[in-house]
Amino acid sequence: MPIPPLYGHEGTRNRLVGAIASGRLPQALLFEGPRGVGKQRLALWLAQALVCEKAAEKAGDEAREGCGECQQCKLVLNLSHPDVHWFVPLELTKKSGDADKQVDVVQEALAEEMAARREQPLYEAPSGLASHGIAAVRLLLRRLALKPALGQRKVFVIGDAERLVPQVGAEAAANALLKALEEPPANTVVVLTATAPEGLLPTVLSRVVRVRVARLGDSIVAAFVQRELGVTGQRAVAQRVAAAEGCIGRILATGERGDRGGEAAERFAAAVNAGPVRRYAFALGQQPFQARGGFTEMLDGLLERLREQARSGRETGTVVRAMAQVLEARGLAQGNVNPQLVAAVLGGDWERAGTGPE
Ligand SMILES: [Zn+2]
Repeated sequence: MPIPPLYGHEGTRNRLVGAIASGRLPQALLFEGPRGVGKQRLALWLAQALVCEKAAEKAGDEAREGCGECQQCKLVLNLSHPDVHWFVPLELTKKSGDADKQVDVVQEALAEEMAARREQPLYEAPSGLASHGIAAVRLLLRRLALKPALGQRKVFVIGDAERLVPQVGAEAAANALLKALEEPPANTVVVLTATAPEGLLPTVLSRVVRVRVARLGDSIVAAFVQRELGVTGQRAVAQRVAAAEGCIGRILATGERGDRGGEAAERFAAAVNAGPVRRYAFALGQQPFQARGGFTEMLDGLLERLREQARSGRETGTVVRAMAQVLEARGLAQGNVNPQLVAAVLGGDWERAGTGPE
């Protein structure tokens, strides 16, 4: 099944097309904006514009978006174009000690993920544990070195680029990636996307041209909901538009992945309320090295829970203090402080101040 058409982002599209036409499109871009706003979809749209046969014929003063009809466009829309490389964070189940084999494992997992997206193009946000590991970077470098298979250009889309994890002992690959961003091979465009660009390494950030991707207007979200999700009825459409808050992706994340943080938050709240023994047991049960993944999701789940409590009448001052404590913990988690420690400190603060979630 082809991916659904891109909705909205007209202004950004015009600027990008104009940049292609005048030959001034930067070779390393970062699309940044809220989760679910369509950054990766926009990047694939750009890839299509870059490889489309008809757009290429009109290159120069008249270059424009991909036609959607030619073979190249169709391959992009079916996630099958050999020169459009879409990297998404992966949660690997298989591991291999051998570096070369690990690259094969990533290649296979990525192919499986793409096959799943061809089946179901409306995908959800990746799980908190998924990342771009060093083997993914090695695969990327390997593909960067290839000549285009079909046309003149290669395009790389690296979704959720804040999940590019620096790894000890893999400095060579990390440096090669930085060099590739600074000076990509000829006829190659690399698009990173990020919800939280401050989570990217400064060395990456300084090598890309940043493009803000803004929220969509409600009428655009409504059109998507009606045409792509087949929702009819004014009320049902209005509900989804309100839930989207300008980000179509938000209303697609309804499955089990969507609530992982919420469930963990509930377990944490229950443990805090059950006293110090349970609280420490919960803290020690955290993965010590996944501060930015599932643990951060859990903290986000806690924030959501506190917001709900504020809406349903819990004393505002208490909620605000509790939220400040969670945000502080979140900051520590982003700095990769051990989640066991962060959870223990947060739980203790809550118990002392009586601010924990009810
Ligand atoms: Zn085309």
